[in-house]
Amino acid sequence: MPERIETESRKLLGRLRTALATSSEGQDRLDKVVNIIASSMQTEVCSIYLFRDEDTLELCATEGLQAEAVHQTRMKLGEGLVGRTARTKRVVNTADAPNAKGFRYMPETGEERYSSFCGVPVQRLGDALGVLVVQSKAAREFSPDEIYALEVVAMVLAEMTELGAFTGEGAALSARHVQPVMFKGSIAQEGASEGQVFLHEPRVVVTNPIADDPDVELQRLRDAVDTLRVGLDDLLSDNKNTDTEQKKVFEAYRMFANSKSWLARMEADVENGLSAEAAVEKEQSLFRARLSQSGDAYMRERMADLDDLSNRLLRILTGQGSGAADMPENPILVARNIGPGELLEYGKALKGIVLEDGSVGSHATIVARAWAIPLVINAKGITREALNGDTILVDGEQGIAHLRPDDTVQGAFRDKIAMLTRAQERYTSIRDLPAQTKDGVTLSLQMNAGLIADLPSLEGSGAEGVGLFRTELQFLVRNQMPRRAELSALYSRVLAAAKGQRVAFRTLDIGSDKVLSYMKPNDEPNPAMGWRAIRVGLDKPGVLRMQLQAFIRAANGGPLSVMFPFIAQYDEFHDAKAEMDKAMDRERKLGHPLPSDLKVGAMLETPSLGYAPDAFFKEVDFVSVGGNDLKQFFFAADRENERVRKRYDTLNPAFLGFLSNIVDRCNTHGTPLSFCGEDAGRPIEALVFAAIGFRSLSMRPASIGPVKHLLRRVDLSEVRGIVDASIAAGDQSVRRAVADWLVYQI
Ligand code: PEP
Ligand code: MG
Repeated sequence: MPERIETESRKLLGRLRTALATSSEGQDRLDKVVNIIASSMQTEVCSIYLFRDEDTLELCATEGLQAEAVHQTRMKLGEGLVGRTARTKRVVNTADAPNAKGFRYMPETGEERYSSFCGVPVQRLGDALGVLVVQSKAAREFSPDEIYALEVVAMVLAEMTELGAFTGEGAALSARHVQPVMFKGSIAQEGASEGQVFLHEPRVVVTNPIADDPDVELQRLRDAVDTLRVGLDDLLSDNKNTDTEQKKVFEAYRMFANSKSWLARMEADVENGLSAEAAVEKEQSLFRARLSQSGDAYMRERMADLDDLSNRLLRILTGQGSGAADMPENPILVARNIGPGELLEYGKALKGIVLEDGSVGSHATIVARAWAIPLVINAKGITREALNGDTILVDGEQGIAHLRPDDTVQGAFRDKIAMLTRAQERYTSIRDLPAQTKDGVTLSLQMNAGLIADLPSLEGSGAEGVGLFRTELQFLVRNQMPRRAELSALYSRVLAAAKGQRVAFRTLDIGSDKVLSYMKPNDEPNPAMGWRAIRVGLDKPGVLRMQLQAFIRAANGGPLSVMFPFIAQYDEFHDAKAEMDKAMDRERKLGHPLPSDLKVGAMLETPSLGYAPDAFFKEVDFVSVGGNDLKQFFFAADRENERVRKRYDTLNPAFLGFLSNIVDRCNTHGTPLSFCGEDAGRPIEALVFAAIGFRSLSMRPASIGPVKHLLRRVDLSEVRGIVDASIAAGDQSVRRAVADWLVYQI
């Protein structure tokens, strides 16, 4: 970097800082900025275009173009050279703009006189906010040094835009983060709640993008990088972190942290007038923009590493976001995505959850459903817009989140909450009545659980026991492997809370999206179909054995039900049951009381088990259909991939035919059968399962009321008739036929 440009760039930033500080009006600030840049860089034109909405850029200030064009000239993302700069997030630099690809003539601006064009994206952490443009009559390309200076200014503009420096009376922009915004996502858990935004990853706000004293800033930057390096060295030398995979990640981090070119670039940014944190963000933004367009998975992973490292550095510099912000009173968690373990750490205090990504089939969703916390997924852009503490309404019924709602929306929403509460009260009135259809068929409705905290719902919901107790949730919430004594104490508390009602404990189902921080992660190409659940239990039986012993001790001479997840063939059940027999033997020898009645079951989650030999159905004490997994393997459609998940309806005749086959096989051998996937809790699905012969369903507690309410209003043989007729008619799903019929019943 030649000395002259460094100085120029710093001088330019110095002038900008003075101008920004002396002016309080947004428009005035913008006007001053373009004026200063044009004169400092000796170009005839300098303009700033900012996003008016998601895909419209607006000319917000100009020096050199027609003043009347300001706030009049607009272009779509990708349109013209300005739109191209914003879309590609890359510099567009040309000596012959009118003949450049994509040029669009805007007569109102008078720009036809200018030959050269240089557009630099104004972006913050990969989000495009606008475009900074310089133009000149002379046909010339702008030099790398000039572009660098523009990038430094663009960085400052981005930070100032984010801080709302260009808003206010007469300004082009409405202030960011203050307007009401509605996000249309998808439904993952019904219900409605009102609260305040609680960001899973709070954004770091840089309030001082321009350095007061470059020497001080350089020192701050170097100190922060040193702290970062020492922290990484500590992580690597800490004996607790023996995990080689994790070590590899930290080693990659350390390599980046020690990278001379990374530090050199940030130092140059500071030399040129940016503050230490703005320099970190500038490099992070440029890197993000470059790599997000790379199709290479390895490169994207490196981007994630560098991104994380930059965030660590920013937290060191600003002291922000190093711990979870204090939860507001009615916290609504807003995140890009979240794992089940992290969600469990936040606990039931959350009033709602809104995710940018997320999926209906994920375990985090299952946790939210179990807790009946309204959850909206696929709310694109919300993490960029929401700030900690903003008011937010989560409408899980429609898959919508209203951020900073106005009074009308808020009023209507409160009416909705009141209505839902009344509906819930209606279900309470049938809590103690049987789930009996009009033609006298009685079903057993049980609940799914996974935490002690779920157990109080047993009484409130009217469930007849726990049809699925997911034991892995307790493993997920800790950071080390629980001991046997802890587990047996925990399981005995579960049994005590169940007050004699049956609890079907499922042995550990880890793998797939349930990753334990203290177990060596497995680098598998497709974890959902990989080494998970009983496969781990049989290959490395230590934890399985500990769990089986803990169950027996918890039962303390009373009845005990245990089931094994993800059994794909008879042998696996046989071998797992042999482990149970061994555990019983061991406990007997140790003098512990044995369960008065032991039932050992299998979860049917892969199509193969539906075709297991008769001997399996004779040997197994009960079968529980894990519909979440079964459905994803039946249709070959990832339960966590929203794009494919919804293509196939559970009520597709092919799937119902497969389930009917399981019902028949269990009936033939007198094997008790139940369904415990999420679909059991959806009223129409539950009705159809009952019609094809299921007599036991296990679901999240909040579903028991609605399912029972519907079952009690129908004649099951009639439902069966509708289902059969719809299948015979060749329908792709029986849903429509059943729903249409229901309209006349209720
Ligand atoms: C299922 O797959 O349906 C099931 C109940 O297990 P999980 O959702 O925990 O995988
Ligand atoms: Mg499963």
